Amino acid sequence: MSVQDEVRPADEAADAAGYRVPHYINGVRIPSSSGRTADVFNPALGKAVGQVDMAGEEEIDAAVAAARAAFPAWSRVPPVSRARVMFRFLNLLQEHRTLLAEHIVREHGKVLADALGEVARGIDVVEFSTGIPQLLKGEYTEQVSRGIDAWSIRQPLGVCAGITPFNFPAMVPLWMIPIALAAGNTFVLKPSERDPSPSLVLADLLAEAGLPKGAFNVLQGDKVAVDGLLKHDDVDAVSFVGSTPVAEYIYATGTAHGKRVQALGGAKNHMVVMPDADLDQCCDALMGAAYGSAGERCMAISVAVAVGDTGDRLIEKLAPRVRDIKIAEGNVDGAEMGPVVTGAAKARIESLIAKGVEEKAELVVDGRGYTVAGYEDGYFCGGTLFDRVTPEMTIYKEEIFGPVLCVVRVPDLATAVEVIEANEYGNGVAIFTADGGVAREFTHNISVGMVGINVPLPVPMAFNSFGGWKRSLFGDQHIYGPEGVRFYTRHKAAMQRWPDGTSKGAEFAFPQMS
Ligand code: NAD
Repeated sequence: MSVQDEVRPADEAADAAGYRVPHYINGVRIPSSSGRTADVFNPALGKAVGQVDMAGEEEIDAAVAAARAAFPAWSRVPPVSRARVMFRFLNLLQEHRTLLAEHIVREHGKVLADALGEVARGIDVVEFSTGIPQLLKGEYTEQVSRGIDAWSIRQPLGVCAGITPFNFPAMVPLWMIPIALAAGNTFVLKPSERDPSPSLVLADLLAEAGLPKGAFNVLQGDKVAVDGLLKHDDVDAVSFVGSTPVAEYIYATGTAHGKRVQALGGAKNHMVVMPDADLDQCCDALMGAAYGSAGERCMAISVAVAVGDTGDRLIEKLAPRVRDIKIAEGNVDGAEMGPVVTGAAKARIESLIAKGVEEKAELVVDGRGYTVAGYEDGYFCGGTLFDRVTPEMTIYKEEIFGPVLCVVRVPDLATAVEVIEANEYGNGVAIFTADGGVAREFTHNISVGMVGINVPLPVPMAFNSFGGWKRSLFGDQHIYGPEGVRFYTRHKAAMQRWPDGTSKGAEFAFPQMS
């Protein structure tokens, strides 16, 4: 079976016929028996191009049962051999990265270069997971007491589920899958129903890499599938990435059902612009971080905090560049920004812009009503820039998740910090300054999980871990990197004593070192 034949990238014929995205259970694609489906849209065209099956109880049970059945054998495969499956998966992902990116452009809408970047950052985690023999190594202490040695090991949990958002349909699943599998778990992925096709490419490539049947399964669907996984007795752990209200629900429901849960939520990321910062560098950073992927990134900068006299200069430099963003269908050469994901997302973003105007923020660039020639039905939003936004305004408080940048003016760094500390989210933050001492203090004190100094999107590399603070993460382990390994394994401590021919008799007192 060739990957390309099974899941076709965007083409006229597929558009005309409409394609179907089924589940992937125990090594085969199976259509839904629930009778429920949902449309899959091409956001640039603004029309449904396919349909995704929506899991019901029967498929949820089948996917979990397949993963459970595969666990004993897969968890006993030596870590070195599991790592070799990941090496092959890594090579296959490299080979098929354009195919994956084309699916992303087609169903998500982001531009091709950005989709390729997403795939590359996902591949980084696969690369990290190939070090699993080293990562699983425990510690050994000889002679913790006379004739007794002690050691620790990390063992897989069992069946892990991943529930992922629309905005990174390849990268976020790859934050979870390689580490969970390499550690010896089996996996059920519930991808976003908005852009489900990349999940099947991942399934094909894992099978081609030699992963046994049942070790990786894909359950397409919505809340029904999610609730089924959260409450299922045979699911041991749940990783979630998505919006904060759902993350909070996943954490509460999953832990109430005895599961280990990490649930990463939404964000409102600030970038502090200090008076000594290089403003050209700041503007370059803000353009990419606020408008890249049409602002649909959990690490997008959505608030620029202009300190002291930087506000006017910043707006003056930003406004023409925001007006000039090259907005187009994602495959168009030189496109900088594609459409947002759905018609509902576009309507919501535009209504939030209207709310900003109503609440007296200064609308410098208005992206409402934007259309692209030849794609008049597409869900395009123009870049939008607000000045003089205050923390009480709806556009400041809500995660807009669109190409809208709010500039908040503050007199000094202390006030900037107060604003950031009062925000409910704590995913990412950046400070742009020429003063190392200021940057150091800021990094030390701020209650945010990921900090950039003259770096707007401080997304940790695969060998560090990713995660926010406050209402951007529920649970205590961040995702991928060393914390990912800890999340997908549990610690066991063991001790041994071998008969040495001497009898010590019964000891009734609590044992102490002797
Ligand atoms: P979402 O919360 O709507 O959906 C995420 C997943 O949860 C999907 O698989 C969806 O099917 C499922 N889901 C949705 N509603 C549900 C419900 N009521 N009950 C159970 N399951 C439900 O998020 P989205 O719109 O797909 O993604 C955008 C959000 O994700 C943004 O808030 C963004 O900040 C966040 N995000 C966070 C990170 C991070 O690392 N913190 C990364 C990417 C995206």
